[in-house]
Amino acid sequence: MRFDLDPAQIPTTWFNAVPALDPPLQPPLHPATREPVGPDDLAPLFPMGLIAQEVSTDQWVDIPGEVLDILRLWRPTPLVRAERLEAELGTPARIYFKDESVSPAGSHKPNTAVAQAFYNQAEGVKRLATETGAGQWGTALAFACTQFQLECAVYMVRVSYEQKPYRKVLMETWGSDVVPSPVDDPDHPGSLGLAISDAVRDAASRDDTHYSLGSVLNHVLLHQTIIGLEAKEQLALAGESRPDVVVGCCGGGSNLGGIALPFVPDERVRLVAAEPSSCPTLTEGTFEYDFGDTAGMTPLLPMYTLGHEFVPPSIHAGGLRYHGDAPIISNLVRSGRMEAIAYPQSKTFEAAMQFANTEGKLPAPEAGHAIRAVIDEALAAKETGDERVILFNYCGHGLLDLSAYDDYLNGRLVDA
Ligand SMILES: *Cc1c(COP(=O)(O)O)cnc(C)c1O
Repeated sequence: MRFDLDPAQIPTTWFNAVPALDPPLQPPLHPATREPVGPDDLAPLFPMGLIAQEVSTDQWVDIPGEVLDILRLWRPTPLVRAERLEAELGTPARIYFKDESVSPAGSHKPNTAVAQAFYNQAEGVKRLATETGAGQWGTALAFACTQFQLECAVYMVRVSYEQKPYRKVLMETWGSDVVPSPVDDPDHPGSLGLAISDAVRDAASRDDTHYSLGSVLNHVLLHQTIIGLEAKEQLALAGESRPDVVVGCCGGGSNLGGIALPFVPDERVRLVAAEPSSCPTLTEGTFEYDFGDTAGMTPLLPMYTLGHEFVPPSIHAGGLRYHGDAPIISNLVRSGRMEAIAYPQSKTFEAAMQFANTEGKLPAPEAGHAIRAVIDEALAAKETGDERVILFNYCGHGLLDLSAYDDYLNGRLVDA
């Protein structure tokens, strides 16, 4: 019940959803002038290859051969039918998941990290600076930088740096320099928004350094569409003409966009974003222009946001803590093309446990949000006797998140 593509069948183009959006995407604005930002405004931070993708309106974008050569270390990833979970639920629904946990960093994030490292190296950049929360993005970029002989500085949210050392060790193993953030206040626990400010400041102050972001931006979602493009081919192998519903968890929107965006043009396919109720950007945020970081150094992005100074409650263990969402995802939710649903963490860990005890794989806590939504869809299909085809993104494994499982198993995880 596993549908594999041959390495030679890896997609060679990315799918750009921007031309398919209705209404069209609003541009990012310069924080001082509130005029749309141009390529020159972004040039201190990003290579031209990525800036061109950020503003591209082409439907398809070629994947460079150098990028494909590295992606083939683990891609195409398997599409698996979760028959044991289906049986346990007693549902007539057919549940498929795309297994992005098989990458070197254990998540979908290397799909964009490799592309970003490639375009930076191609334009002569020597060093990348980035932020990481619990460390998933940092490990993905550390892996990609070591493949392209780039130096990498990772500003890691201080509380994770102190309490979750294993991803830091992995980043250091791949040669990155890991710095606790905020750099100017050793007593502050830190936040993703503050770490972004530290990384942007680093990149803006050094000629040899660019900045790299692991989610939210158009080019990041573009690179992730390889997930959905492979899934389409694999569903055909499984004899399915299309999924009825596509589900992903949503922090900044990259793994969700990766699996869902190739299905945007087919109105028969429902798209669902699953987020934590302790960081409910899509379900309770406001749609407006807001900064990507806490210090207000980035362009203003049109997105659902909880405000750029938002910090989720410290009891929240499941990732997905960003205050905003990708403009592309925000556009889809606002237009009604995508649905959004929020879950308390007890419900997401319950779903993750059910998955681990049927399919055997231990989900990243983030993936638990998608699995919650999938189980609820499958139970709804059981009520109506409907053979619903559900596709979801298994965006990462939880083998470096065992302390969160320990908290769950020992009753230390409470809902807000
Ligand atoms: C980073 C991460 C997420 C959240 O980011 P998105 O951009 O919303 O995908 C979700 N799951 C895993 C496993 C991650 O590493």
